Amino acid sequence: MSTPTHHLDDDVLLAYVTGTATEPVSLLAACHLTLCATCRGHAAAAEMVGGALLDAEPAAALSEDALVRMFARLDDDGPASPPAPAASTAEPFVFEGVPLPRPLARYLSLGKQRGDSRRAFRFLAPGVRGVDLPVVAPPAVRTRLLRLAPGVEIPRHAHAAPEFTLVFSGSLSEGGERYGRGDVRFLDTAGVHVQRVDSDGPCVALVVNEGALLPQTWRGKLVSLLFDH
Ligand SMILES: [Zn+2]
Repeated sequence: MSTPTHHLDDDVLLAYVTGTATEPVSLLAACHLTLCATCRGHAAAAEMVGGALLDAEPAAALSEDALVRMFARLDDDGPASPPAPAASTAEPFVFEGVPLPRPLARYLSLGKQRGDSRRAFRFLAPGVRGVDLPVVAPPAVRTRLLRLAPGVEIPRHAHAAPEFTLVFSGSLSEGGERYGRGDVRFLDTAGVHVQRVDSDGPCVALVVNEGALLPQTWRGKLVSLLFDH
């Protein structure tokens, strides 16, 4: 199996391990970690440093909410709602013929409120089908599993919010880069881009469009200590 070459940003990893990422981003991070040994190593290091910093910092210097969530995570070995840290040995499950990381299973298998046993792709646009995932997030945040037909081009608008794409099957090309299974593409609000599905098969990907991404308090303090060297 190929190794991802496009990874989670360090600040996203940090938000994930400290429990301050939103649920959609936590889900995406957990899925990437099942496919990427490199980021699993970074996540383990970030957890250790984050814990040590908490011991050393006056509590008042940290956001109260971040502290509460951090401690909840430490106590519980992972929050109940966002996906738990991934294990490399986690078995994928198959959804419409595509092997997907285990953290997605409960988002795709639940549909009990209407009697349907699982979710299914539905038409969104020519060559594009998708499943909305029932994550806890503000209404403006969109979290979908997309299935894009071979050769489909996604013409891009300017982004009002950051966008994450995590590829599970097939591949996308953008700006001379190719994104295959396990690869993450992050685009902030400054970007305008065009993605094209490679012609060798359909592409299935998790796509998160979200508003506020990360609390600035963690970003400035922890990222500089961890990764700027
Ligand atoms: Zn990675």
